[in-house]
Amino acid sequence: MAGENGLSFTEFSKFCSELEKISSTLELTAKISEFLQRLRDDDIYNFCLFITGKIYPQWDEREVGVGVGLIYEALRLTTGLKRNKIEEYVRDTGDLGLASELALKRKLQTSLFTEELTLSYLRYVFDSMSSLSGEKSQKKKIRMLVDLFSSASPIEARYLTRLLLGEMRLGVGEGILRDAIAKAFGVDSSIVERAYMVTNDFGKVAIIAKKEGEDGLRKLKITPHTPVRMMLAQVAESPESAINDIGESAVEWKFDGTRVQIHYADGKVTIFSRRLENVTHALPDVVEMVKKSVESGVILDGEAVAMKDGKPLPFQHILQRFRRKHDVAKAMEKTPIEVNLFDILYCKNRTSDAGEVIDLPYTERRRLLELVVKSNNGIRIAKSHLTSDPNEVRRIFENAINAGHEGVMLKKPDSPYIPGKRGKNWLKLKEVMETLDLVVVGGEWGEGKRSHLISSFTLACIDENQELIPVGRVATGFTEEDLEELTELLKPDIEVEEGKKIVFRPKYVFEVAYQEIQKSPKYESGYALRFPRFVRLRDDKDIHEADTIERISKLYESQFSSNR
Ligand code: AMP
Repeated sequence: MAGENGLSFTEFSKFCSELEKISSTLELTAKISEFLQRLRDDDIYNFCLFITGKIYPQWDEREVGVGVGLIYEALRLTTGLKRNKIEEYVRDTGDLGLASELALKRKLQTSLFTEELTLSYLRYVFDSMSSLSGEKSQKKKIRMLVDLFSSASPIEARYLTRLLLGEMRLGVGEGILRDAIAKAFGVDSSIVERAYMVTNDFGKVAIIAKKEGEDGLRKLKITPHTPVRMMLAQVAESPESAINDIGESAVEWKFDGTRVQIHYADGKVTIFSRRLENVTHALPDVVEMVKKSVESGVILDGEAVAMKDGKPLPFQHILQRFRRKHDVAKAMEKTPIEVNLFDILYCKNRTSDAGEVIDLPYTERRRLLELVVKSNNGIRIAKSHLTSDPNEVRRIFENAINAGHEGVMLKKPDSPYIPGKRGKNWLKLKEVMETLDLVVVGGEWGEGKRSHLISSFTLACIDENQELIPVGRVATGFTEEDLEELTELLKPDIEVEEGKKIVFRPKYVFEVAYQEIQKSPKYESGYALRFPRFVRLRDDKDIHEADTIERISKLYESQFSSNR
């Protein structure tokens, strides 16, 4: 199918538009699997990333750094249309991708420069963009984007924009891609899954599936500096129910911070966030602590907590440290970090195997953890307490809350570490406060003194079709500082502005508390929140991890059954 230069972006775009019309998971899987079989290796790699809206694997530090603003500017220059015309298209279609397509159809200017767009050519341009830095980089990026849009047909523009913004809107998630790779190359889906959990790179997994089959995939092991999906916990209702579920448990504090996966090998430390973003640059203090206190050749799992005077600072502080690109030293001074380690995934020097230790039981892994952490200089091992007594669990829970943390985790002592799994081997017990994690889709500029700040936000949940539907608006619970930071953070994702009203490209999740859920025709979801209050930015959550309409409807129902 591919020409001499590999798969053309026209063909890729046509394929995407076919997928967009399909809603059946099976059909999507079959189509993608068929398509994959016909591709060259380098196209397989790019295809697997692009089809899910990624240019690099999530953990790769490189990023093209093209937001909504640059796309508007490039479209304006390519087509000769005014920005407000393009904004009108966004309002009509609800999508900058479709708006780009329309803009190219109405193009006023003819292109002087055109290049055949192939996946490998796009890869080349994206790599060049991601290597740009410094003052002139924005201008250069715009020029490169103009070249791309000038060479693109309208339908290519639709998918180029969506790819740059990381949201293809095809309904192709990781599960579908995993099954399509398995089907295309005749390998078992669970083996593809495991290979993906340890490499987090579908492109690489697909190529190995094709060339070496199941044997090759099985050989893929955890390696330092490539992140591993984190193991997650299920909610426990009470100490009794948790002990009932897993029997004797290892009880640890549930620290109120944010997850870190720390890799230390070959003289280098790399730190990944829960979303597998490389956050090493923001945490030079942690890097130093690790080098001083930990044996090399390890991958460790833990929770980073911002501390002041022996107490954890609110979760928000630690996220501010993670997001910091400039003035890292200042932030370090303001918000010192402590790391509480609770697991080990790889240990090169103390095992006979290749170093991977995730299949060892929890107690064995803890033993290794104790061996590789030499001192507790800002880095310590979370205490673990074996018990099958619910009252003992309750006591540890109280201690954790008194120390300013969230609750406790109960872990099954003989369980392996299963990457990416939210299972019953880990249970979490938290103080009860039902909050919702919702996606910010709109907002409004403030009045008077606050006119430079976005001071209210429209929030959405996820419906059965994975679409975002509004459930409410939050305007309280923010400090002035919160609003300043949020305005700064969200500004680049403004898609349309009309007077004071804003439409955002969905990217961020807010945790909100509320007094009650009500039925209401005001929002598309049919529900509304009474007295919603901002709790925190869930920067560690992807929009796809936000709460669903199903959960909201359950919470709504439960209001009648509870004794309030
Ligand atoms: P949640 O975010 O409420 O689903 O809770 C799971 C999170 O708790 C993990 O992703 C960790 O970031 C955090 N956590 C804090 N302490 C621990 C611990 N001792 N073991 C595992 N996870 C922990």
